[in-house]
Amino acid sequence: MGKKLIYIVEDEENIRELVVYTLQNTGFDARGFSNGLEFRAAVLEKVPGLALLDIMLPGEDGLTILKSLRGDPATEKMPVMMLTARGTEYDKVLGFDKGADDYLAKPFGMMELVARVKNLLRRAEECSGVERGAGEYNLGGLSVSVPRHSVAVFGEPVTLTLKEFDLLECLLKNEGIVMTRDRLLSSVWSYDFEGETRTVDTHILTLRGKLGRCSGLIQTVRGVGYKIGGGK
Ligand code: CA
Repeated sequence: MGKKLIYIVEDEENIRELVVYTLQNTGFDARGFSNGLEFRAAVLEKVPGLALLDIMLPGEDGLTILKSLRGDPATEKMPVMMLTARGTEYDKVLGFDKGADDYLAKPFGMMELVARVKNLLRRAEECSGVERGAGEYNLGGLSVSVPRHSVAVFGEPVTLTLKEFDLLECLLKNEGIVMTRDRLLSSVWSYDFEGETRTVDTHILTLRGKLGRCSGLIQTVRGVGYKIGGGK
């Protein structure tokens, strides 16, 4: 396996260079960009295995870049970690809801950055049904195809957001097993910060709403978490 390619968009030269240097020295191929324009040009040439996006940037900001990555089939599944000085819980949730996979608040240590990058890349591989050669599920009227990224309830197509889809996929892959909120959080959001479990509840709520007649498949296990299938 070749070196994983990682792009970082960061206008602060010191941070950018340090991150590129660190990643290069931990077995990755890293390239730094000071703005969204340069980054987009590079992505058109080659889609990286992971992107690190600063939020506050001159010109296009990191969240706008993220949104456009998610809107493009070539990059919609690319793991993205947001880097930002704004560290409030609100901003974290905002980042996730716009489709970021992880969030790292500045100032961060290089060891932590590398650990998070490795974790995110590992999760991206684990959660990729295509690479596992599996990903077709049929359960009580619910049909999910991970390779085609499609969901149907009694034959009627349902549109899910990426996170809702990942959440559903994670539950299906662990059919009959109770998944704790923390575990879902770290599998789907690759985020192990405690106290953000409400994010899981919110997404379960919208997911159930969209699954309509199949909403009952997702069972709440009081005080523990959620599971799909496997009886009551
Ligand atoms: Ca910045």
